[in-house]
Amino acid sequence: MSKVKTSFFCQNCGYESVKWLGQCPSCQQWNTFVEELTQKGTNKNNNEWKDFNGKERSERTIHLNEIKTTEEKRLLTEDAELNRVLGGGIVQGSIVLIAGEPGIGKSTLFLQNGLWLKNSIVLYISGEESELQIKMRADRLQQNPSASSGEDFYLLTETSTQIIFQEIKKIKPDLVIVDSIQTLQTPYIESSPGSVSQIRECAAEFQRFAKETNTPVFLIGHITKDGSIAGPKILEHMVDTVLQFEGDRHHAYRILRTLKNRFGSTSELGIYEMTDTGMRGVLNPSEILITQKEDNLSGIAIAAMMEGMRPLLIEVQALVTQSVYSAPQRTVTGFDQRRLQLLLAVLEKRGGFHFGVKDVFLNIAGGLKVEDPSIDLAVICSLLSSYEDIALPQHICFAGEVGLSGEIRAVNRIEQRIAEAEKLGFEKIIISKYNQKGIGKQKFNIEVITLGAVEEVYKLLF
Ligand SMILES: [Zn+2]
Repeated sequence: MSKVKTSFFCQNCGYESVKWLGQCPSCQQWNTFVEELTQKGTNKNNNEWKDFNGKERSERTIHLNEIKTTEEKRLLTEDAELNRVLGGGIVQGSIVLIAGEPGIGKSTLFLQNGLWLKNSIVLYISGEESELQIKMRADRLQQNPSASSGEDFYLLTETSTQIIFQEIKKIKPDLVIVDSIQTLQTPYIESSPGSVSQIRECAAEFQRFAKETNTPVFLIGHITKDGSIAGPKILEHMVDTVLQFEGDRHHAYRILRTLKNRFGSTSELGIYEMTDTGMRGVLNPSEILITQKEDNLSGIAIAAMMEGMRPLLIEVQALVTQSVYSAPQRTVTGFDQRRLQLLLAVLEKRGGFHFGVKDVFLNIAGGLKVEDPSIDLAVICSLLSSYEDIALPQHICFAGEVGLSGEIRAVNRIEQRIAEAEKLGFEKIIISKYNQKGIGKQKFNIEVITLGAVEEVYKLLF
């Protein structure tokens, strides 16, 4: 009879300890330790990939010069957004973690990409849904006008990695998609699926498989409310690429963001629209993020911001009303609340606007969360526009960070922002005077107004 072995694991970061701890020494979280069974057998079975693809990968040292440096071949999907976010398609033998909240559409996006992948054998492993459920979803996705035929698409509803790898040996897929890593279970560890030790071991088995057979693997993982990947932050270190799929459940738009990428830039971003027949890549996001309207309304300003490497024009909406309570309300969606407080304080101090007796509501259209500080100037202008109840002129947009003394600060990639505004038919863009040098001698058909401080913007527009 074998002795049962247990360890305590931090469910937040995966730190292992022989005894229970109140606070995790690694991530400093309290009450995160859970006892897990960790009896490990010899999992030789899953380690051998000799007969796979006819290739043998023996583990021995190799002289650097013996390694052939062929141009790394990438698998191109039918999804231009996904290809870009991955840095130009799927790298052979790479392991990609896709993290996102449950129900945001990760399964849909990767089922659709698996279905539509051409000239490749795709194995979709699901521990979440039944075959019938997936078939129904696949039928719906195939009605999409941009759907292409996926003849070599295989489905496996299984959670045991032992059985999964047996099937993989039979099918010899070119791409493996696992939905989700939290449902998998390796027989070599006795703790329950979804526990840190299970997730870590299952991911490690797929990592070995990916590296030794040169087959790319996508692991879908759910994240908890606080945004950390449930339990295993450790997965982030084990995989080559971490993608995050995010968006507001109540909005149709989803963002695929690169958090880590060994094979490309981490500032790439894909935007999708959720439709009845799957996720549709949005090629020109600015057009959908600005409400098309005939009459001018107060409280609306357009910001020329950057999301990753991509210029994006986005609508900022503000509503400033007389406060009925002694403590005025500040309600914000898509923008940092403390940043709003700061900008209000700047307007109060520099412009003498009494926001202290006003309720302020601020909203970024489209359900996007904006971190680019260049949106400050648009926020300021939408606030002033609502405060004065004077609509801003149409076809004007803004790009500038606002400092504590009310100065308008320069932002990066100014030419790209101006070009995007020009492309979308804007007539004027207001930027920082410190950005003047950045524009150089480039000629734009859009009028570029350079200003130094918030007061100058007020004089110009109100
Ligand atoms: Zn921890």
